[in-house]
Amino acid sequence: MVIVMKMGASEEQVAAVVADVESAGFRPFINPGVERKVIAVLGEVDVDKAQLADHFSELSGVERVQLISEPFKLSSRSYHPQDRVVNVKGVQIGAGLPVVIMAGPCSVESRSQLLETAHAVKEAGARLLRGGAFKPRTSPHSFQGLGEDGLELLAEAREATGLPVVTEVLDSHDVPLVARYADMLQIGARNMQNFILLKWAGESGHPVLLKRGMGSKVKELLMAAEYILAEGNSQVVLCERGITTFEDSTRNTTDINAVPVLKHASHLPVVVDPSHATGSWRYVPAVARAGVAAGADGVLIEVHNNPAQAKSDGPQSLKPEKFRALVEELRRVAQAIGRDV
Ligand code: PEP
Ligand code: MN
Repeated sequence: MVIVMKMGASEEQVAAVVADVESAGFRPFINPGVERKVIAVLGEVDVDKAQLADHFSELSGVERVQLISEPFKLSSRSYHPQDRVVNVKGVQIGAGLPVVIMAGPCSVESRSQLLETAHAVKEAGARLLRGGAFKPRTSPHSFQGLGEDGLELLAEAREATGLPVVTEVLDSHDVPLVARYADMLQIGARNMQNFILLKWAGESGHPVLLKRGMGSKVKELLMAAEYILAEGNSQVVLCERGITTFEDSTRNTTDINAVPVLKHASHLPVVVDPSHATGSWRYVPAVARAGVAAGADGVLIEVHNNPAQAKSDGPQSLKPEKFRALVEELRRVAQAIGRDV
């Protein structure tokens, strides 16, 4: 449940409610920085929730108490009704702001590959540079990424282009290392329910791009986000990257429904990744356009200066000139729904 305080409730009133929540055996979690304080009541205690809600609603300074039936609380709109804006080193994502395009190669492979691609995506209109230094590969024999050398190249590309960097962290032990270089931490589909990693990413205080697991429900994605939010880190962006279905004409199936469903259930920004969702450069533009039309706050596009030679995800990577054309199309789609790129 969440306790909504009256506008202008005093600090003493909030403190008294917090103490009452604690004495009932729950963990209070205050939504900071909003004019009307909202206190989430977290925890599993075997009590009559309706009775408890009645009790809280009679406390001084309380406007109303709302029971939340969903298991996700901090990621829900009941807790935070306004759209959340996530700030990646000055690039703001969410709340109807211009759609943010994040782009770059699947893997950082070399200095020339990364810098060439980074300059190309920047010139085309990308606002975040995304590339992997630690790669989650299905086979241990596939390219695993350059590790810290790759992070250094990403930092160099940020210097050269001014684009903040998004990169994946695969292992909780690497969070401090990756956070030293990256402006936003990506948690990949395969790690969506790696709860220790989620906690560490939350604790880092860095913005997090959380990708939906290929076999995960929207609710499970929101529960995963809950782990990050519960560490006091509100800077979470959700990413629909396609799910596994019986359909095998594409790598995954884009769950476009997830965009409005997530935006209705949660205050967190939503990004669509048509590259991993389709697995084929041919389909990337259409699905990217669909994502923006559906209300996504951003898109993640894999771009490579020479896709034929890419060490990972070449078949789904756009060449820079195709990416440039796509950005223009996305701008027109965004403008058609009263937004921009
Ligand atoms: C990636 O972003 O390069 C990646 C591996 O994505 P996902 O975790 O969605 O498969
Ligand atoms: Mn990839």
